[in-house]
Amino acid sequence: MTTTAPPTWLDLPADTGFGVGNLPYGVFSTPGTGRRTGVAIGDLVLDLAAATGDGVHATGSLNAFLARGPEAWRELRAQLTAWFTDDGHRGTVAPHLVPRSQVTMHLPVEVADYVDFYSSQHHAENLGRMFRPDSEPLTPNWKHLPIGYHGRAGTVQVSGTPVLRPSGQRKAPTDDAPTFGPSQRLDIEAEIGFVVGTPSEPGTRVPLSAFPDHVFGACVVNDWSARDLQSWEYVPLGPFLGKSFLTSVSPWVVPLAALEAARVTPPARDPRPLPYLDDTDGEPWGLDIAIEVRLNGEIVSCPPFDLMYWTPAQQLAHMTVNGASLRTGDLYASGTVSGPQADQRGSFIELSWGGKEPLRLPDGTTRTFLEDGDLVTITATAPGPHGTRIAFGDVTGRIEPAR
Ligand code: MN
Repeated sequence: MTTTAPPTWLDLPADTGFGVGNLPYGVFSTPGTGRRTGVAIGDLVLDLAAATGDGVHATGSLNAFLARGPEAWRELRAQLTAWFTDDGHRGTVAPHLVPRSQVTMHLPVEVADYVDFYSSQHHAENLGRMFRPDSEPLTPNWKHLPIGYHGRAGTVQVSGTPVLRPSGQRKAPTDDAPTFGPSQRLDIEAEIGFVVGTPSEPGTRVPLSAFPDHVFGACVVNDWSARDLQSWEYVPLGPFLGKSFLTSVSPWVVPLAALEAARVTPPARDPRPLPYLDDTDGEPWGLDIAIEVRLNGEIVSCPPFDLMYWTPAQQLAHMTVNGASLRTGDLYASGTVSGPQADQRGSFIELSWGGKEPLRLPDGTTRTFLEDGDLVTITATAPGPHGTRIAFGDVTGRIEPAR
C-alpha cells in the first residue's frame, strides 16, 4: 500500500482531515443565497449546485441525491476525485470553491425516521451496573439482538443548535412523589450516525451484504439525554421525553466509500448471532473511528468505535428483519460509544459514575452533569486511503438555561 495521498492542485493544509480521500457532503448557504449541497475539501466547500449544474444539489437537503442510489453516489465521487486531482479541471472548478469560514451549515438531511441503538457492550454494562446493581449488567437479550428505540426525527438538528435545558418530571428513588422542573442531570451521548439513501420495499429484509447499497454515509451524533427525566419515565416502554428534546448531528456526511480503510473486524460475538445477524464468515462492518469529547475545549473522553459489539450493517439488518421498510433520509445512531477505560466513556453519567464520582476538569473544577453555559464538542477521525486521516465534522452544542 502506498502512503502517498493522491496529488491535487489544491493547496490543502498538511494535516487536513478533509482531503481528496474524504469528500463529505453537507448543505450550506452564504449570506443572501439559498441552501445548496456542498462538498468539503480542505478549508473550502465546493458548491455542487453551481459546479455540476444539477438541480438535485440545489434542493436544500441531500435527500434527492441520496435517493438516486449507489451508482449515482459512485459516479459523482469519481467525478469529484477527477476534478480535484487533475490540474486540467482547475479553471472550471476553482470558481465554485468557497472558504468554509464564510458559509453557514444546515441540517444535511431531511430526517425521515430516527432510530437509536445501544450497541456498546461497555456502555450497556456500565449503565446496567448503575441502574440494576443487583442483577447481571447485560439484559438476557443484549447479545442476541441490537437493542434500539425509535426517536424523534423532527428534533434532529445540525451542530451548533443551542441546547435548551429541558424540563419535565423527575423522581429520585428516595423521593415520595415526582416534581416538575428543569433537568438537573443533563448529559451527552457520543455516537456515530448512519444515513440511509436507498429505500426498501415494505415486507422485504435488508441483508448484511446490502448495507452499502442502502446506507450512504456516516456522521457524528450527540444524543442529548436528561437522565433524571429518563430514569423516571423509561419503564416499561423505553426512552421518551428524556431524549426527544434535541439530537445534534455533524454537518458533514462522510460517504461509506471514504471509510474503506477504516473497516476492522468487530469484537468476537459469543454466542454466535442468529443467521440474519451473523457476519462471522462475511466481511463485517466494524469501523475504526476515534471519537473525542470536549467540554469547554478540554478533552474529557476518547471513545473507541472499533469496539462496538454490533456493527451498523447488523443494526440495519435487524431494523428491517420484520419487513419494516427504509426511507431516504432515515437516520440511525450507534448508541453511546464507550470503551473499557474510564477516559473512554461516552457520557457524563458514566464519566461521573451516576454523579457519585465527579469528573475533575483541567481548570481544577469538577463536573457531574452539564451546567448552563457549558459547550460540548464531539469530533471523530478514521483511517483514510493512502495513510491519510478522514475527519468527520464537529457536533457542538452550548447549554442554555431552561425557559
Ligand atoms: Mn443514545
